[in-house]
Amino acid sequence: MFTSTSGRPHRGLPLWASATLVGGFVVLLPASALAGDDHGFGGGHGHKARSVIFVNGDGMAAAQREAARLDQEGFDGELAMDALPVAGLQTTDARDPEDTVTDSAAGASAWATGVKTYNGAISVDVDGNPLPTLGGEAREAGKATGLVTTAQVTDATPAAFFSNSTDRSLQDDIARQYLEDTRPSVILGGGEDWWLPAGDPGAFPDQPEEDPEEGSRSTQGDLIARAQEQGYEYVTDAEGLAAAEGDLLLGLFANEEMFQQRPEGEGDQYDPVVPLADMTTKALDVLSQDRDGFFLLVEEEAVDEMAHNNNGTRMLEAMRALDAAVEVARAYVAEHPDTLLIVTGDHECGGLTIEDVDPEDESGPGGTLEGVPAAEDETISGEDGPFLVAGTDKDYALDWTTTSHTGAPTPVTAEGPDSEELTGYYPNTHLHEVMHEILVD
Ligand SMILES: [Zn+2]
Repeated sequence: MFTSTSGRPHRGLPLWASATLVGGFVVLLPASALAGDDHGFGGGHGHKARSVIFVNGDGMAAAQREAARLDQEGFDGELAMDALPVAGLQTTDARDPEDTVTDSAAGASAWATGVKTYNGAISVDVDGNPLPTLGGEAREAGKATGLVTTAQVTDATPAAFFSNSTDRSLQDDIARQYLEDTRPSVILGGGEDWWLPAGDPGAFPDQPEEDPEEGSRSTQGDLIARAQEQGYEYVTDAEGLAAAEGDLLLGLFANEEMFQQRPEGEGDQYDPVVPLADMTTKALDVLSQDRDGFFLLVEEEAVDEMAHNNNGTRMLEAMRALDAAVEVARAYVAEHPDTLLIVTGDHECGGLTIEDVDPEDESGPGGTLEGVPAAEDETISGEDGPFLVAGTDKDYALDWTTTSHTGAPTPVTAEGPDSEELTGYYPNTHLHEVMHEILVD
């Protein structure tokens, strides 16, 4: 899975691979065995983490995870993300003048800064004052940093870790801050529209058939050219990404998101030109060269966006892609016991639950349950499915109660050193404290 490193023989094996060869079986032992403790928490005491891989399934809470488990693994199986030895629950409420339920910007700001703020805020406090971000601080502390996402690379979650803005929609200014201020070594995802001025379509045509509203719109000039001047290698497809050899890597693989979020059968699409798992592999390949450790943010945005559209089929596809990326991260952590892996979601989306298939049940309106006609009122959510439990003839329905986010807490699973800090029930700001301690303090 990591063989793409052979694409740059001039550099030899990546640090983590050579460590495996030199250390032989020793590094493959559980960290607890090395540390001589018997906690069995997948690596704990005696091994302070040096690196953090933080995985956000945007909009992912317990029901999304369980639906994916049934869909992919069946009754007796488990997702890679559910196999992590440590689990906790996080609350996600924002500090918004109007809303109780968080958006992705306030949620990620809490992770990136440890401070609760208003919806739409990118690592600024409730008064709009900029706060130090985990991505920026980690780099100042000598760590390599990177982000991969199927959203725009400047969308709310990555933006909060690597920039400050009073308004999440100012994505071209957020891109400018990446280049001028926080300089993540790896930037992979969608959102080319925000890096090029109007009239310069770039690698992805403006006003494409699948979404005529897409088009280049940077008010900050040609930020791709500026990135290249700064030494970033720029790639736009899977071949380019596989061949890239730079220490600084910018890959933009779509105008906006790397998928089309729509209700089922209305032009919905989940088929990113580069899978999230491959972006994650490449990012680890680059970041692991830094002997001081690294921070990597990995995000699957389509869980949230498909849930907004109450599109269970595509949401499950996104969950599959996300879990494949978690498998990549787990393989890395297995060989690098100094790495903490965290998998969570910034908030729930869709008010989702899992039900037996029952045409007599309340919903129909807005839903797409087979055999039950959808009503005209598209704003009323409903039942979706049926979906098959893998390896069985049993099925289940997904019942959506809203097309918005909800305040349901989200599971956190983790492995590696310091992961035991993530047991319990805590506010989302607690994740900042744990990561800050490793990356900055
Ligand atoms: Zn959302």
